[in-house]
Amino acid sequence: MSEERALNFLEEIIEKDLSDNTHDGTVHTRFPPEPNGYLHIGHAKSICVNFGLAQKYKGKCNLRFDDTNPSTEETEFVDSIKADIRWLGFEWDNELYASDYFEQLFQYAQQLIQKGLAYVDDSTAEEMAALKGTPTTVGSDSPFRNRSIEENALLFSEMRAGKYPDGAKVLRAKIDMKHDNMLMRDPVIYRIKHAHHHRTGNHWCIYPMYDFAHGQSDSIERITHSICTMEFIPHRELYDWFIEKLEIFPSHQYEFARGNVNYMVTSKRRLLQLVKENYVEGWDDPRMPTISGLRRRGYTAASLRNFWDNVGVAKRDNNIDINLLEFCIREELNKTALRRMAVINPVKLIITNLPDGESISLQAENNHEVENAGERTISFSNTLWIERDDFMENPPNKYFRLGPGLKVRLKHAYIIECTDFKKDEQGTITEIYARYFPESKSGSDTSGIKVKGVIHWLDCHSAKKAEVRLYDKLFTVEDPTSEEGDFKDFINKDSLSIVRDAWVEPALLEATDEDKFQFLRLGYFCKDKNSTDTHIIFNRTVGLKDSWAKEVKKA
Ligand code: ATP
Ligand code: MG
Repeated sequence: MSEERALNFLEEIIEKDLSDNTHDGTVHTRFPPEPNGYLHIGHAKSICVNFGLAQKYKGKCNLRFDDTNPSTEETEFVDSIKADIRWLGFEWDNELYASDYFEQLFQYAQQLIQKGLAYVDDSTAEEMAALKGTPTTVGSDSPFRNRSIEENALLFSEMRAGKYPDGAKVLRAKIDMKHDNMLMRDPVIYRIKHAHHHRTGNHWCIYPMYDFAHGQSDSIERITHSICTMEFIPHRELYDWFIEKLEIFPSHQYEFARGNVNYMVTSKRRLLQLVKENYVEGWDDPRMPTISGLRRRGYTAASLRNFWDNVGVAKRDNNIDINLLEFCIREELNKTALRRMAVINPVKLIITNLPDGESISLQAENNHEVENAGERTISFSNTLWIERDDFMENPPNKYFRLGPGLKVRLKHAYIIECTDFKKDEQGTITEIYARYFPESKSGSDTSGIKVKGVIHWLDCHSAKKAEVRLYDKLFTVEDPTSEEGDFKDFINKDSLSIVRDAWVEPALLEATDEDKFQFLRLGYFCKDKNSTDTHIIFNRTVGLKDSWAKEVKKA
């Protein structure tokens, strides 16, 4: 985080609270995921904000699983969420579960009943909806609204005891059916659901609704700043109402803009569809906007933190350009990634003036952007791989790569001149012939030959076969969820292309999952987790082209 930047509005609120000694000078935030999917790039924003504020103001941040909906939650998601937060570089002060408060929440509901502020309603969902009114017309009271406190208390305890089937009754807060805020029109606070819960098993058959669980959980944990996204603004009134009526610790809700990135879908429900319906390989498919997908793609935790730091925290919803995300990872990898050579569309190049079996050792720098990145030894022989695209049979003017009679430099090696080539019956180039100039070695070139182009290459004798996976955006439109029809209609069919017969430097066989590479002229790559000793796979994180930086310069 840069020290100079102006305070964002949340920091201003916290600094005022600290100077007014509002909560005895403490800051306590929480990150409250529902464990119904893997975390995505939007959640990373909320994590950076909540954990970041606690860090900055020497406060605490809880990880609280908002697990009040038994049917969608799974332990697999709890584990992945914890792993993702840690990977992003944060550690929680307490690991908590809203389900741990079920008994307390039940008692809060009983207290509301005793205060005449909650009632059991036997209406069906349709009947309730019909009486709810609309944003422009008031609602009407349910026929069950005036049950006595005793009757409500008895019915609510019977609901808990399992006497009624799903949907037969609900508990509602008794507020005002004519309230301007629809959420204040006697909201449902408990429903009957005979379902197994991932932590409480079959102990409960009634479950609190989100609004009844969330604020009270904040209050139980003495959260001072409950930070959520803008769509919860209408909920704040209800949040405050429960806290006031129950006379419990006054947590406060503050809202900031959701982080949305174009060409990405950030909704667990939709991401779940992509996984379930096999549009992607899983939650951590490198095309997914999930934290685990981005990690597998080669994004670093620092690049995601920097990305959200660059975007900043504000109240206005914004759609962030995916180019900014790519800019952040490129900027980092440019400084840290080891340079290597790989050939992904190979054609053979024969050096005619070097004898069979002769191998020349050459030194190649690992990263010229940083000092002390070191060098590696690469080998040069009379049989090389180069990219098919770096040769043209009939090159146009100003083509600075290889073609009959043209000269080019092989990176870290020599200048060569193309003397001949061979084609098969289909017209495909099968072999290219060239001579090399021994006195043109990189770093000690005394040949006096000037060339404009430099291409990458590999020695066929030492190169290792690899699979390379090239990714493109998962969607063809900026916001697939705002288009007519199903968002899945906008999936990019060419979002993955697999190159099975690529070649890489032998040193890459020893890559670890954390290593990052720049394959010269091809982009940034990392090893995929599904690689084996005999089958190595590289994922392209991002290409080299930096359109964002250009746009920034233009602006
Ligand atoms: P989804 O729609 O993907 O399920 P959610 O908001 O329902 O998202 P939760 O697990 O409830 O998911 O979210 C945990 C926290 O992360 C909440 O405080 C939520 O506001 C925040 N969050 C979710 N998506 C974003 C986003 N795109 N930008 C910022 N914060 C987000
Ligand atoms: Mg949610």
